[in-house]
Amino acid sequence: MSAPAPAPVVEFRSVSKTYPGGVAAVRDVSLAVGRGELLAVVGPSGSGKSSMLHLMGSLDVPTSGRVLVDGHDVARLSDREVSALRATRIGFVFQQFHLAVGVPVLDAVADGLLYAGVPRRRRRARAAAALARVGLRHRVHHLPHQLSGGERQRVAVARAVVGEPAVLLADEPTGNLDSASGAAVLELLRELNAAGTTVVVITHDRDVAAALPRRIELRDGRIVADTAPHALRTPPGGPYATGASA
Ligand code: ADP
Ligand code: MG
Repeated sequence: MSAPAPAPVVEFRSVSKTYPGGVAAVRDVSLAVGRGELLAVVGPSGSGKSSMLHLMGSLDVPTSGRVLVDGHDVARLSDREVSALRATRIGFVFQQFHLAVGVPVLDAVADGLLYAGVPRRRRRARAAAALARVGLRHRVHHLPHQLSGGERQRVAVARAVVGEPAVLLADEPTGNLDSASGAAVLELLRELNAAGTTVVVITHDRDVAAALPRRIELRDGRIVADTAPHALRTPPGGPYATGASA
């Protein structure tokens, strides 16, 4: 008999998100993202992609249903525990990375470890290693205005992975880049994934999405396609199998 499958990195159980004012951005979504996956989320503007990513990253809480990150039910954690989860298990990359003016790249990345309880010296050493991983070893002492858009986005990726998160969540990370820089950032995400990081990336680029191993398509807050539908199954009789809402 095979060993039981490890807990998914992210799991949604009948998750819905309705914003104040009544917009149902995510509707009854169930999915599991396994360790080591590289997953694209696609869908028209307003289909709920960012909302879903924010729920995955514990930046927001569902209106109903359950979100589990690395096996932890986010709704059952204290604020402090959610902050710790976010600081140690989750990395974010957004469309636009706002680097503080005048702060060298090395410090900007090292600051990604501020809330993970890593001493300052270690933070800087790990930041240097993360910058080397994204191909910016030669830029660690540069200031933000001395970098190209593509390089800035590489810094964002370095900052997101410096804490060695269980999952890297990227919301249209190439949306502001020319196609060559965008392709380089995507190649970087692939390399990180090949080295073991679980990656969920929102993209409006169908060619990019089609080239990734798994693709989820959203429409009006619902999953209308998932190229790995087997991953939707949750183990029978699990602790949350009743589908009770939060
Ligand atoms: P996408 O990323 O696919 O473009 P979003 O998740 O940003 O979609 O938005 C989904 C829907 O939720 C849209 O109708 C949007 O206007 C709405 N929405 C997003 N964020 C909020 C918010 N903070 N408050 C109210 N409505 C929101
Ligand atoms: Mg969005």
